[in-house]
Amino acid sequence: MKQFTLGKSVSMTGTSLHEGHEVTLTLKPADAGTGYVLIRTDRDGARIRVHPDNIQEVQRRTLLMENGVEVHTVEHVLAALYGLGVDNAIIELSAPEPPAGDGSSKAFVELAREAGITELDADRPEFTPTETVEVGDEKASIKIEPAEDGLTVNYTLDYGVPFMPRTTVEFAVTPDSFEHQICSARTFCLEREAQMLQAMGFGKGANTQNTLVVSPDGPIENTLRFDDEYARHKLLDVVGDLAVTGLRLNAKVTAIKSGHSQNQLIAKALRKQYEESR
Ligand SMILES: [Zn+2]
Repeated sequence: MKQFTLGKSVSMTGTSLHEGHEVTLTLKPADAGTGYVLIRTDRDGARIRVHPDNIQEVQRRTLLMENGVEVHTVEHVLAALYGLGVDNAIIELSAPEPPAGDGSSKAFVELAREAGITELDADRPEFTPTETVEVGDEKASIKIEPAEDGLTVNYTLDYGVPFMPRTTVEFAVTPDSFEHQICSARTFCLEREAQMLQAMGFGKGANTQNTLVVSPDGPIENTLRFDDEYARHKLLDVVGDLAVTGLRLNAKVTAIKSGHSQNQLIAKALRKQYEESR
């Protein structure tokens, strides 16, 4: 299997979810071996490598920082690139956070499809974990085991509220499954959390069209795309957080109620295992 990149540069503009800024995102082709690199055009083109060493631990999102320059909430963009099989890409942003789109990875998948995905003349390195890694506790956990071929994610959602019953979803993450079964699952929060989150400074650009705000009667001013959309979105987040490893994985992931903090811990552990195995 060869490495892939984008066929040309493509841009989109929109409002970011947490900061509520107008921002332009440009996806650009990159050479084999580049991986994913973020560039802040509003900070003199500062580069932030997508690598577990650059993860900063913050609540409810993924934040990467290098040489004091940060980007955050990049998980839905990274999930789209990994999911479509793009190994190398430059992600330019005119602000610290990408556009929210509709709260899923759909806009980024459409953008990458517009660019086209092209093969590079270099083999794709793949990593099969040398042993099982598990992080978390009885409240939330994530486990990664070696597997034969590609990445499979099994996610169990359980918010402990009757209107969002315990749900398990599982997908082998391929360009086809990602595009048709995973990418359009949107981010969500409970109605009772929404005000508190906004008071904490999250979701300044959030609304009921880019976030499913879940009441006991279902999403407010919105309808579900899949019965298990919430669980599918959490699975999407796992893909985005694992994309930070910079590794194409042959692995089976079993996640129970895990969020970004557990996902990031396992991304770091996996990268460490990879470095030690070389
Ligand atoms: Zn998400």
